[in-house]
Amino acid sequence: MTFNELGLSAPILKAVTAQGYSEPSPIQAKAIPAVLEGHDLMAAAQTGTGKTAGFTLPILERLSGGRRAGANQARCLILTPTRELAAQVGESVATYSKHLSLTSAVVFGGVKINPQMMKLRRGVDILVATPGRLMDLHSQNAVKFDHLQVLVLDEADRMLDMGFYDDIMDIAKKLPKQRQNLMFSATMPPKIRKLASDILIDPVSISLSISKPAAGITQRAYMVHDKQKIALTKEILKDKDLNHVLIFCSTKKSVKELTRSLIKAKLPAHDIHSDLDQEEREKVLLDFKNKKVKILVATDILSRGIDIKGIELVINYEVPNDAEDY
Ligand code: AMP
Repeated sequence: MTFNELGLSAPILKAVTAQGYSEPSPIQAKAIPAVLEGHDLMAAAQTGTGKTAGFTLPILERLSGGRRAGANQARCLILTPTRELAAQVGESVATYSKHLSLTSAVVFGGVKINPQMMKLRRGVDILVATPGRLMDLHSQNAVKFDHLQVLVLDEADRMLDMGFYDDIMDIAKKLPKQRQNLMFSATMPPKIRKLASDILIDPVSISLSISKPAAGITQRAYMVHDKQKIALTKEILKDKDLNHVLIFCSTKKSVKELTRSLIKAKLPAHDIHSDLDQEEREKVLLDFKNKKVKILVATDILSRGIDIKGIELVINYEVPNDAEDY
């Protein structure tokens, strides 16, 4: 199958071609026609499957036909669990809509609200947001949903893990009843099925085989006592000439401890977690993407959705709670 067969128009295909995508990924081949037809969608899919383009491309196609957003209105709302993912999805939306006259914006907490209010004044066709900041903006009348046509919940299971169920339901209540709803989740526990039944109407279901490790990755497990972990990690890092390593710990405390020890051992490590302010979070992530930071030690704020090219080694310093996070 080719992108040309999916029913997307020339400006969108041009942006897709510029990305170098030769054919739709399996989720795109299934999701794009369903979304174009206006169906609700429940997709079990992880990061790396191309799900972002899977929902963004057909949404752009649908929105490019209608009337532009009025003052403070949003026509499509994409909710994500973390600020980093919101920023990344926002970049994808901007990339794929490059040749269309649609507008988009990204809003999340941890940064000043005023510039976001300004951005929303004239309305946006696509708004990418984290739930908390969106609620704030809505309560201050900076964003209105009278003309909202599409709601997307990305990484829905993670949003629930982070305690956003009530916020999501509050937001959904403020939206027009007549709308399209798309939900993406890496796992399908009962609480996700409940959310789906609360939000979605007669959805098309797409399930890609999940829990399969990505091909081409060599996996290794070390059986060690807690006390030996720091020393072993240093050994592993010193052993090879590695330039792009991501290490996950389960708590901020252990992220900080490990980072301190690595730096002491002259390993170029940096930490990222929710105690950093948003500006620092963005800078560290950018420096890691550009390989200025070679070793990034992270909490699970980076465990979902984040797409970074060319990582050579991932260390799960603590076993992740959730198999899908692994
Ligand atoms: P996602 O799962 O949406 O985070 O996307 C994972 C990565 O796949 C991103 O770097 C995308 O740019 C890339 N990607 C998305 N669709 C395709 C495609 N059809 N062909 C090749 N790469 C793609």
